Amino acid sequence: MNRERYSQLIKSKAYDLGFMYCGISKAGFLEEEAPRLEQWLKDNRNGKMGYMENHFDKRLNPTLLVDDAKSVVSLLLNYFPEEQQSDDSFKVSKYAYGADYHNVIKDKLKELYQFIQTEIGEVGGRMFVDSAPVMDKAWAKKSGLGWIGKNSNLIHPKEGSFFFIAELILDLELQEDGPIKDYCGRCTRCIDACPTEAIVEPYVVDGSKCISYLTIELKDALIPGAFHDKMDNWIFGCDVCQDVCPWNRFAKAHQEPAFMPNGQLLGMRKTDWKELTEEVFRELFRNSAVKRTKYSGLIRNIRTIQE
Ligand code: SF4
Ligand code: SF4
Repeated sequence: MNRERYSQLIKSKAYDLGFMYCGISKAGFLEEEAPRLEQWLKDNRNGKMGYMENHFDKRLNPTLLVDDAKSVVSLLLNYFPEEQQSDDSFKVSKYAYGADYHNVIKDKLKELYQFIQTEIGEVGGRMFVDSAPVMDKAWAKKSGLGWIGKNSNLIHPKEGSFFFIAELILDLELQEDGPIKDYCGRCTRCIDACPTEAIVEPYVVDGSKCISYLTIELKDALIPGAFHDKMDNWIFGCDVCQDVCPWNRFAKAHQEPAFMPNGQLLGMRKTDWKELTEEVFRELFRNSAVKRTKYSGLIRNIRTIQE
């Protein structure tokens, strides 16, 4: 019966730390995902994200990441902002309005892991935030935190999809939660709205066509010409397939102080972006995930739209 008690303890601490939902699944080989991932890579849907081909086995099997792994604890942290950018602005994905989520979530995971050590005992494990070898959406789905929609995002039936996903992989037996059903039904809004037609078939996003990839992951000096008139004013990431999803209609604003939008960022107009200096970039994105593109990358994205 300890399994149930420990699971409850972990979940209630996770909620105290501000996580929106916490679900648990049994660690083991991700059988259903293996052929899908293999096909996706074979079709070069990862573009120049070569790192996605690494650690193929580890991605599918957490016991290769943590000795004797027994459970995967998946956690969701809301980032849906109360306020959004003005219409007269180039667009930054909502997840990047505040402080870099990696640091914010890592701090919370460390506290949760420390709590487990204190309350339950010596438990081995590792924490993951958006890190390559863990298929976070697949684990969250297995843990009953939502279904993976046709836009390939995890969708929670009450919250939509504007949240981060993190995991703790533990060598501790816990009470697992079951998956829920897919509620996409006959909807195709995300497929119809995607500016670059990156959702090539339901549930399959061609990463190499996705604006998130083009504006963040692609490090080339230029974004391929075929996309220049399809960028839809996005300069860092893209939220279109989430914005149009009916399950996000009732998304509630987060209460995480670190994710509070940077006022200066929300006030930026297109003219301000066009005049962005390296100094302002550094100041504006000092603690932000946008730093990933570096100044040169963001300027490349802005110039792509202006062309
Ligand atoms: S993030 Fe944007 S470009 Fe990528 S699949 Fe969604 S709508 Fe298409
Ligand atoms: S927009 Fe429609 S099809 Fe796309 S993920 Fe949302 S519910 Fe599913």
